[in-house]
Parts: sequence; C-alpha cells; structure tokens
Amino acid sequence: MNLVLVRGLCYIVASIFFVFGLKMLSSPTTARKGNMVSSIGMLIAIVTALTAMTDIKWAWIIAGAGVGSTIGALAARLVKMTSMPQMVGLFNGFGGLASLLVGWSEFHGRWADADATRLFTMVAIFLTVLTGGVTFSGSLVAFGKLAGMVTGKPMLYKGRNAVNAVILIAMVALGIFFCTQKIAQVDGAGLYIGFTGIIILALILGVLSTIGIGGADMPVVICLLNSYSGLAACAAGFVINNNVLIVSGSLVGASGLVLTSIMCKAMNRSLTNVLFSGFGSATSAKGAAYKGEAKPVSAEDAYLILEAASSVVFVPGYGMAVAQAQHVVRELGDLLADNGAEIKYCIHPVAGRMPGHMNVLLAEANVPYEQLVEPQDVNPTIEIVDVAIVIGANDVVNPAAREDESSPLWGMPVINVDHARTCIVLKRTLNPGFAGVDNPLFFKENTRMLFGDAKASIMLLVSEFKH
Ligand code: NDP
Repeated sequence: MNLVLVRGLCYIVASIFFVFGLKMLSSPTTARKGNMVSSIGMLIAIVTALTAMTDIKWAWIIAGAGVGSTIGALAARLVKMTSMPQMVGLFNGFGGLASLLVGWSEFHGRWADADATRLFTMVAIFLTVLTGGVTFSGSLVAFGKLAGMVTGKPMLYKGRNAVNAVILIAMVALGIFFCTQKIAQVDGAGLYIGFTGIIILALILGVLSTIGIGGADMPVVICLLNSYSGLAACAAGFVINNNVLIVSGSLVGASGLVLTSIMCKAMNRSLTNVLFSGFGSATSAKGAAYKGEAKPVSAEDAYLILEAASSVVFVPGYGMAVAQAQHVVRELGDLLADNGAEIKYCIHPVAGRMPGHMNVLLAEANVPYEQLVEPQDVNPTIEIVDVAIVIGANDVVNPAAREDESSPLWGMPVINVDHARTCIVLKRTLNPGFAGVDNPLFFKENTRMLFGDAKASIMLLVSEFKH
C-alpha cells in the first residue's frame, strides 16, 4: 500500500483516539482512561510524523524526547498539588512557544518559496507566530499571577485598550506586508525585520492583554490561553502541512473556547467585559466594607452541630487545596453519612485556581461521583440543608454577589451557603479570597467560623466523631 495513504490512515486513527480521549475526560469515572487513550493517539501521531521525515537527525529527536520526558516526569512527581494551576499555565505557554518556534523555523526555509502556495504558507506562519507569541508571554504572566510572583490584581493604565488596539493594528499591517511581498521584490533582510517585529509585538501584546486581567476573572484567562495554544498549534499544522496537528490543535482550541464560555457563564460576565473592564483593580469598585461580629466556634461545638444534622453540603475551595484536606474531608463525609446524614459536595466551576481543581482533588480522595453536585443543583433547596460546611472557599460563597450592587462580584452566581440553616466556615482568618473582596458571610447570624488550617480542623472533627 502507498506509504502516504498509510500515514494518512494513522493520522485518522490518532485523531479518533484524541476525540474519544477527550470525550472520556468529561466524566471522572473515565478521565484516567481518557488520558491514556489520548496519549496513545499522540504516540501514534509522533511515530507517524517521524516516518514521514527524510534526512532525520535521530540524535536531536532522542535528545529532545529525553529532555522533555525527564522534565515532564520530574514535574509530575515533584510539583505540589497546590502548584498545579501555575504549572498548567506554564504548559499552555510552552505549547504557544513550540508553535512560535515551528513558525519561525519554517520562515527560514520557506520565505523564498516561489510557488503558488507561498501566500498560504506565509499567512499560516504569520498566524502561528502571532497566536504562539501571545500565548507564550500571556501564559508567563498568568503563571506569575497564580504563583504569587506578580500581583493577582489587574495592572491598569490609562488608554490600555487603545495601546493594545494599536499594537494589534501594527501587527496586522506588518503581517500584510510580510505575507504579500512578491517574491521578485523580496528583500530578505527587510522581510526578516518585519517578521521579528511581528514576534516582538505578539510577545508584548500577550503581556499587556493579560496584566490587565486579574481577580476573579483569572479562570477565564487560563481557559482562553489554553484555547490560544490550540489555535497556535492548529496554525502550525497548516504551516508544516500536518493533518493531525491541525486536528489536535482545533480540538484544544475549541474545547478551550467552550471552557471559556462555561467560566464566563459561571461568573455571569461577558467575555468582552472580562477582557476589557479591569475587574478587581485598585481603581474599580471594592464593594462595601462589611462590619459585624464573626462568631467563632470550637471543634467540639461544630461537632455537636454536625452530629445533629440530617443533611450536610460540603463546599470546597482553594483553601482545601492549600491544606491538602481532601482525604480527611472525605473521611468526615463518610462518618456523617454513617451517622445518617445525606451528604453532597457542591463544586463551583471557578473554585480553586484552575478549571476542575476541586473535582481533581475530590476524585483523588475517592469521593463518590454521585455525591458531587453543582451550585444550580443545591441552591434551590439550600434552605432545607441543615449544615453547609465551607472548606477554604471564599469568593464562590460570597453573598455580596447577590446582595451588594457595588461589589465587584455583583451578579456572579455563588453557592448560597448563607441560606442553609447553619453555615460553618473553615479558614484561618477573616481575610478575603483571590478576588480581594470582603465577605459578609462571616458576619451572618447563622454563620460559625471554625478558625485554623482546614485539614487540622477537619481532623479534630473526625476525632470528635470517632470518640
Ligand atoms: P478564594 O481564593 O476565594 O478563597 C480561598 C480561601 O482559602 C482564602 O480566603 C483563605 O483564607 C483560605 N485558606 C487558605 N489556606 C487555607 C488553609 N490552609 N486552611 C483553611 N483555609 C485556607 O477561593 P475560592 O475557591 O472560593 O475561589 C476561587 C477564586 O480564585 C475565585 O475568585 C476565582 O475566580 C479565582 N481563580 C480561579 C481559577 C480557576 O480556574 N478555578 C483560576 C484563577 C483564579 P485564610 O487565609 O483566612 O485561611
């Protein structure tokens, strides 16, 4: 059989593996298998791509695979669960960088092409370096924000949207120049200056458009950068004429966009509002300062409340990840269930620091999937829930989103834990969460604050139950 045909078939098989792998990732029961299926698809794609290469430099391939695998294996073993969000952000960035480098290297070999496909190739190279550059530098900023190296608040300056627009227009103008130069008139040096100009502008645009976003809007940025990294890979696929790269890039691009829309919906914001409004900046609305007396509760008293409860909803947040409390949370859930209570774990889509953060942690602790619910499943009947127990969550349970029009969180759907009969909040202080917005929940009549590290507090509750 014709080798080209066999390769084409292998690419189709790899693409089918990607699609099924992705589908399996949508349920916690099949997610692990989905990961494996997608990895096999990637292996098929890589081996097939390698067989297509003539004049292959195996030493480079083996060295690259060795370095990449070592970094991947070390990162998987050494990076703490709490650092996963920034690592995911960094991986997005590397995806963008890889596409940018593909576009850059192809530029060297292809700019002097004289055939009819030159315009198409040049447009593909332009789009690759543009999206790859924006993804790379934007992801580095997101990494810095999630790792706490850069302030999580948006850094704004007057006229920033105009500056971004000017950069974009300059890039498009350079891109038109770059793509439409007739080969007879091409001045290699001039073209190369234009090309590096596009790369530099793309990197600057990535930084400027991401530093202006912060606070509770970060989940949208993470998803959007994820989508950009897919689009960059897709464009790179057109540059090197590799079908499986086009398919996998499109899958990442499209799924990133779907996730972006889910996150926007979870915050009741439009994408344009997220990208251009500068939510949570020093100059934007802060909401009222809430005064009142928080009512601390001891572990013994919290135990008495829980022991009498017949329905309990756990609401995990970023603090559960910090405390690594997921296993003891599950243990407490099991003890409460043995005590006759109905247990649910309510996960807000933007809880934690990366999409699906809480789902991953609770799945790691083998929390039964049927106990995982979403805010819209819990909110309508939360008045009849005996105890809502908030574990290191803050922004996603802030009632100011419902009650205070001046709050930056106004309009964001939150979990209405303050409407439960009793709400127990586990955190260390009264400090605000990621969005930097004060939380009136702590001063509500039916709220009790169990101060301390979430894991330590839950362990105390577990030992109360056991004794
Ligand atoms: P928050 O960031 O609002 O609050 C987390 C709380 O956990 C803090 O107030 C902190 O309070 C508490 N905490 C920290 N460490 C511990 C500990 N060891 N034990 C007990 N409590 C602890 O988290 P949420 O999950 O409620 O909300 C997520 C926020 O992050 C949203 O604003 C979201 O937009 C944003 N975000 C989400 C991303 C995503 O993809 N999901 C990505 C980026 C940002 P204290 O210090 O007093 O203990």
